[in-house]
Amino acid sequence: MTNASTTPTVFDVQRIRADFPLLTRSVHGKPLVYLDNANTSQKPESVIEAVNAHYREHNANVARAVHQLGEEATAAYEGARDKLARFINAPSRNELILTSGTTQSVNLVAYSYALPRLQPGDSILTTVMEHHANIVPWQLVAARSGATVKAAPIDERGELIVEKYIEMLTPDVKLACVTHVSNVLGTVNPVREIARECKKRGIALLVDGSQAVPHRPVDVQALGCDFYAITGHKMLGPTGTGALWARREHLEAMPPFFGGGEMIREVRFSGTTFAAPPHKFEAGTPNIAGFVGLAAAIDYYESVGFAAIHAWEQNLLAYVTERLREIPGLRIFGEAAEKEPVISFLLEGAQASDMATLLDLQGVAVRSGHHCAHPLMQFYGVPATLRASLAFYNTREEIDAFIVALLKVRKLLM
Ligand code: PLP
Repeated sequence: MTNASTTPTVFDVQRIRADFPLLTRSVHGKPLVYLDNANTSQKPESVIEAVNAHYREHNANVARAVHQLGEEATAAYEGARDKLARFINAPSRNELILTSGTTQSVNLVAYSYALPRLQPGDSILTTVMEHHANIVPWQLVAARSGATVKAAPIDERGELIVEKYIEMLTPDVKLACVTHVSNVLGTVNPVREIARECKKRGIALLVDGSQAVPHRPVDVQALGCDFYAITGHKMLGPTGTGALWARREHLEAMPPFFGGGEMIREVRFSGTTFAAPPHKFEAGTPNIAGFVGLAAAIDYYESVGFAAIHAWEQNLLAYVTERLREIPGLRIFGEAAEKEPVISFLLEGAQASDMATLLDLQGVAVRSGHHCAHPLMQFYGVPATLRASLAFYNTREEIDAFIVALLKVRKLLM
């Protein structure tokens, strides 16, 4: 975290906010303060317009028609793949499967990579801080194969106990998983180190990058993992978009997950042959307009730049942390040394859902609940937390408004 007392001067947040039409609206008669970005981000005009323009001017199905519109739609869709591949520095566009989001990406690995390899007695290693999307698919394939799911522990600060994770990489582990950034705590996990240890042991590593890509440049080659899953709607893109990057050798060996149109080479009742990756894993008509929007989202990130985004967000995180720490009876969950701008907390004696409702009445959108992370809630011994998650279009003034609203809620409930 950077020092909360200094504001980066080069970042023109008001100019950026002007690109996000939704940020100008009010809620319950109050200016909206949107602090639920880890749930889904807002979209800049350029993304909205790209989707709109696709339907107005270029709409057709992909990879089927030779007519002009079909070619335009295919070029736009495949262009989005190129952009996404570059965005996470994938070595090849053919290693990038376009999916509906992280959930689909993880399930694809579960059923196509893990299930055929799992035997009774094998296991999959994940962690206590994962989103259910990086737990439940493993449980489903474990139940089918007689394997088990193991979870590496975390400490009170919300940091993964990396030595334990490494210790748990025993020969029964057929796949290791970890989130790059926790959606509840903001903790950044040491993926490179974990990947190195997995590699030494010949274990493939899947990284859930859902909460990393909106905040930091990701280089899958530098990380050294085998699979990297992302979701588009948390990174300024439309809902129902996402991707799985996977090493070519895995994709070549993996059977398809879904069958249907677009993913075949030749269909015969005597035996069907499949298209090469990535198309082998993309059965049916994809969310073409969504990916056109996601390509525009990447352009937007690149126009702002992650160095500026990171500096601004870290400053906001330091500021909101400092302000929350001033509130008596407020407990913060997760104080890792390296964090992205997500902060979970509770007020002693108050229900998270009541607080979220009262904050909403003041225009402040935060999330309350278990954040699809039951095991993490169990670790902390709470059923739910409140979570404020920031994006680079948030401001210090919004944090001030949030704190004022929170103090009012505290008064009401105490
Ligand atoms: N993993 C993490 C860390 C998340 O935060 C989320 C969404 O909240 C997901 C996975 C699931 O993403 P999606 O629902 O877009 O597939």
